[in-house]
Amino acid sequence: MFFTFWSGVFCGKIDFMAIKTIIEPFRIKMVEPITMHTEAERIDYLKAAHYNPFQLSSDQVIIDLLTDSGTSAMSARQWAGMMEGDESYAGSQSWLKMEKAVKDLSGMEYILPTHQGRAAERIIYTLLGGAGKYFFSNTHFDTTRANIEFSGATAIDLPIEEGKNPQLIHPFKGNLDVAALEKHILDVDAQQVSAVILTVTNNSGGGQPVSMQNAREVAAVCAKYNIPFLLDMCRIAENAWFIRQREEGFADVSCYDIAREMMRLADGAVMSSKKDALVNMGGFLALKDPDLAEECKNLLIITEGFTTYGGLSGRDMEAIAIGLEEVFRHDYLEYRIKSTEYLGRKLTELGVPIMQPTGGHAVYVDARTFYDHIPVHEYPGQALVCDLYRVGGIRAVEVGSVMFGKYDEHGAFIPAPMDLVRLAIPRRVYTQSHMEYVAEVFAELVEQKQSSKGYRIIKEPKFLRHFTAWFEEIV
Ligand SMILES: *Cc1c(COP(=O)(O)O)cnc(C)c1O
Repeated sequence: MFFTFWSGVFCGKIDFMAIKTIIEPFRIKMVEPITMHTEAERIDYLKAAHYNPFQLSSDQVIIDLLTDSGTSAMSARQWAGMMEGDESYAGSQSWLKMEKAVKDLSGMEYILPTHQGRAAERIIYTLLGGAGKYFFSNTHFDTTRANIEFSGATAIDLPIEEGKNPQLIHPFKGNLDVAALEKHILDVDAQQVSAVILTVTNNSGGGQPVSMQNAREVAAVCAKYNIPFLLDMCRIAENAWFIRQREEGFADVSCYDIAREMMRLADGAVMSSKKDALVNMGGFLALKDPDLAEECKNLLIITEGFTTYGGLSGRDMEAIAIGLEEVFRHDYLEYRIKSTEYLGRKLTELGVPIMQPTGGHAVYVDARTFYDHIPVHEYPGQALVCDLYRVGGIRAVEVGSVMFGKYDEHGAFIPAPMDLVRLAIPRRVYTQSHMEYVAEVFAELVEQKQSSKGYRIIKEPKFLRHFTAWFEEIV
């Protein structure tokens, strides 16, 4: 039903040529210089970094699209709030402001501050998890999965079929497959299921949204089997924007009210404030159940800090309270989603294959298709990441066979299912001219891609090799 509604909007009303430029809804009061360099200099930098952009220093990068996490620009109001940060150990006024902001949004009674998202995850999943337990999600984010597996429990991803097809256009590719969820619950016995986690937006594919309908259905299944329903709410404002645009019945509801409605379906929530709270560090846990909250607080005090600051400074909590309000402003969200979409559309027009439709916080380029002259075992994603840096000083991240590739017991290479390159967009940091520049660099790569070469790994650690591996160009 919503699909037809949305395709009408998609094909009809939103005619991009007809609407005016979406200008950045802010003026720039303080600037951070970008160091410019020549291609010749970048060739040297890349060589010294062993062709791994994670090894570059930030002043060697012109446009940094490595991540949207903790890279937001704060507003003048947030900076002013930092000056008022109350650094009291107990009962900080800044904590009271942050607590109120999260309570109002979530409708949950118990709020625990943490130094970032994974600290909240460690607390809740240590308590709910353990050997023999199961967690189901549309997709577990990597730190979520790691914390669950570290507790001894099993994390199973159940995205809808449409979410697995990169080229398919669907309004809510982040949805969880509810029929599969119920089947899995019955298979493992509901008693063994610790929680169902909806990640909004779903990080895979660049932040694909989850519909309210899907959240309602997941909540109903959880209620039926008495299983806690948790939201990984890192990008809940971006998700609310998509619901407002694409789901029937929400066109006149504010994004804040949409987010509130979704949060009221859940029993708890985990947040990395480094995303939609528009700050550089922070997180929290929100819960409805007093007994679980009490246990979580005990762990919080042992490992993060007292309950009125978690791992945060008073000034950080002040900035989170303000960021949680600013992120829901219509003008901000319109600029945010439209600028990601703008880059996606520019690349599509150039014939660069990307995951469709563009999500909230990133554009994923299908490097295996774009660089189809480079065999998969020569890492087309790494080749594209290196070319983006060399030609344009743009730093992106390979999400493919470097990150997820493996070797079998005979040492034979097993590629990842896809070779993608993620262009993550920091919040309020870059302007449309920066995005035009990124598109121009891609235009150059389209012209010269036949001359780009594959790579081989010459040194790699045992775990998380993408951060530190050394590469060599295959000539
Ligand atoms: C970033 C992120 C986390 C982890 O948060 P950190 O602040 O990086 O520890 C968890 N879930 C999702 C969906 C995220 O994007």
